Amino acid sequence: QSHGGFGFGPGSLGSGGKIPLGLRRKGLRIVVTGGAGFVGSHLVDRLMARGDSVIVVDNFFTGRKENVMHHFGNPNFEMIRHDVVEPLLLEVDQIYHLACPASPLHKTNVVGTLNMLGLAKRVGARFLLTSTSEVYGDPLQHPQVETYWGNVNPIGASHFLSLASYTTDTVAMTGVRSCYDEGKRTAETLTMDYHREAAVEVRIARIFNTYGPRMCIDDGRVVSNFVAQALRKEPLTIYGDGKQTRSFQYVSDLVEGLIRLMEGEHVGPFNLGNPGEFTMFELAQVVQETIDPNARIEFRPNTEDDPHKRKPDIRRAKELLGWKPKVSLRKGLPLMVSDFRQRIFGDHKEGGG
Ligand code: NAD
Ligand code: UDP
Ligand code: UDP
Repeated sequence: QSHGGFGFGPGSLGSGGKIPLGLRRKGLRIVVTGGAGFVGSHLVDRLMARGDSVIVVDNFFTGRKENVMHHFGNPNFEMIRHDVVEPLLLEVDQIYHLACPASPLHKTNVVGTLNMLGLAKRVGARFLLTSTSEVYGDPLQHPQVETYWGNVNPIGASHFLSLASYTTDTVAMTGVRSCYDEGKRTAETLTMDYHREAAVEVRIARIFNTYGPRMCIDDGRVVSNFVAQALRKEPLTIYGDGKQTRSFQYVSDLVEGLIRLMEGEHVGPFNLGNPGEFTMFELAQVVQETIDPNARIEFRPNTEDDPHKRKPDIRRAKELLGWKPKVSLRKGLPLMVSDFRQRIFGDHKEGGG
């Protein structure tokens, strides 16, 4: 016989009242920074469904209220408009730290992560960092194993530029990627520092390209670009020769991995991604098959330092978290198309294909 509903420890707050006592697990108080974003909002859905109390901290930089609005009015849900670059005082059991601007601003990654680690240290919460496959840079090892240190160009330019040659354009072309990569690498370092020096319980996920409903439509990622372009009857823009590869993970697989990592005993880092590898040309073909066989393809120049290939080695997550992705690209893509169709055209064209 379980007395699971009787705990009044730090995690007992907000365990809900609707679940029968015998079935009730100890509800946790969980902060999700960036919880109004693409991945965060799907994570929030899972945690809410589990009966936990969730506090979303988001400044709506790229996130949207619509992504979490369905929880408004639920006593287990709270939404705080807050920039994680500013300190924040809360009492919680777990922190999922996802807040991160789509356009790379170093400060959010570094100062924002520092604040959330400071919070975790003060209240003894477990802290999970969503790092990225981009820490591997343009990898010289394939597929990428967690023990690989990566190949990131810290200045984000392959050749020396004199001060005079630095136009806004060259900075935009060359500085973009390294700022994000190095920001996340610094965030990983800070996370491990707090683990070693302040005994904070930490978890690190290295997320590979993820797609699904609620993804930003216009932030320039390849899957959202191709899907939106095909729906709008615009040509699919392939940057470079289209032979570069990526591995695309459906968002529900990622959320499952993040929760297993948080609940498990291992710090990581863990690669979370789908090992199915596609060239951008193949991806364009899958989008054609899924949305519009007549969609045209157009080639555009690629950005400098674009990684040539990327594919996760997920043996560590399989073995230690008992996790592996379940949704293939061909199964997952249609699941995001209906959401994009609705957001692009509004309700009147919904279900039209
Ligand atoms: P997203 O842009 O949809 O979500 C990020 C959220 O953080 C947004 O809601 C945004 O408003 C919020 N935010 C940004 N700056 C903030 C600040 N200073 N204070 C508070 N909130 C802030 O992106 P996503 O795809 O959901 O990514 C979530 C996390 O996963 C990020 O840390 C990202 O780096 C990581 N990641 C994602 C992918 C992917 O393919 N989606 C791949 C690798 C890593
Ligand atoms: N911090 C926070 N919320 C907390 C505790 C700390 O936002 O509940 C911030 C704090 O303002 C500081 C950062 O986290 O900027 C790091 O905190 P820590 O205590 O580790 O460092 P210190 O303040 O001792 O430099
Ligand atoms: N890409 C493309 N067309 C687009 C957008 C991106 O061919 O409209 C390419 C881009 O050059 C890169 C790959 O798709 O090689 C993945 O880009 P994305 O920004 O989605 O992810 P990341 O490079 O961060 O893995």
